[in-house]
Amino acid sequence: MRAVVFERFGEPAEVRDVPDPTPAVHGVVVRVEATGLCRSDWHAWMGHDPDITPPHVPGHELAGVVEEVGAGVTRWQPGDRVTVPFVCACGGCAACAAGDQQVCERQTQPGFTHWGSFAQYVALDHADVNLVALPEGLSYGTAASLGCRFATAFRAVVAQGRVAAGEWVAVHGCGGVGLSAVMIAAASGARVVAVDVSPRALELARTFGAAACVDASAVQDTAEAVRDLTGGGAHLSLDALGSPVTCAASVGSLRRRGRHVQVGLLPSPTGTTPVPMARAIALELELLGSHGMAAHAYPPMLELVRSGVLSPDLLVTTTIPLDAVPEALAALGTAPGSGVTVIEPWMNRP
Ligand SMILES: [Zn+2]
Ligand SMILES: [Zn+2]
Repeated sequence: MRAVVFERFGEPAEVRDVPDPTPAVHGVVVRVEATGLCRSDWHAWMGHDPDITPPHVPGHELAGVVEEVGAGVTRWQPGDRVTVPFVCACGGCAACAAGDQQVCERQTQPGFTHWGSFAQYVALDHADVNLVALPEGLSYGTAASLGCRFATAFRAVVAQGRVAAGEWVAVHGCGGVGLSAVMIAAASGARVVAVDVSPRALELARTFGAAACVDASAVQDTAEAVRDLTGGGAHLSLDALGSPVTCAASVGSLRRRGRHVQVGLLPSPTGTTPVPMARAIALELELLGSHGMAAHAYPPMLELVRSGVLSPDLLVTTTIPLDAVPEALAALGTAPGSGVTVIEPWMNRP
């Protein structure tokens, strides 16, 4: 099969032929019809994830067709249209038993703990626990964005963030996960303040339901700008980018007893990220993390997509072939882009 491979962290990846994967006893091999390009893939390529040993194939948001099943798989068969959360759970640990597969103690992650989906085929573990059937009418491209960013945003806003109608929600960083959060919070009846440095990203945030926007490159103090717009601060604020600056701005955006949800990854090769804990104490803030979403939590989200309340398809702004991935992956470091880029591994070379 053809796959995007990198041999050394931070050095250009290349597209080449590699052996097809084979399924584990409990796993499947999926023919990848669409796979999203996410900032986490850039972190993987840069060497920010200790799980990765090159040569490596990144890619963790995918949708496709089951090609081959292991002997121990009971729920799936070749031909099934599926997607998968980026956290593949073991199904047997204490976290899994509690229904918290997104923080499984023995999780695997395609594109991180093993070769991922920037390839024509990908192996996925514990298929009976992790695969999600795609509803009819949901395209592979749209479904690919659900596996990481949209599902992550859904859990961050709805489950961890406990959004309520009428609340103010601030979203710091309007890339794929941030725009998803804007759409989900607005559909929940919240008033959303979108924050980004890109006018294009803020324009998209408005079309996805943001009531107000803050251009972080044009104001002195982003947190203060959000507090002014929201009559004293947001009830819920998300750092959807993942940086010390956006994390602090998110915590600073909150009103008393507000909730901060950290969604963007904070890999810190040089140390841990400072968080304004004095403010957290004085205002009794809640600081929460959010890490993907378990497969069993997908159906209510998929129902909102099917009924048209949520439209993740609007987030997909660009579709590219495998050959364009090395360049697009490297570009994520300097220009995160707006919306979601989807790769179609079977698309003909341009
Ligand atoms: Zn587990
Ligand atoms: Zn991702």
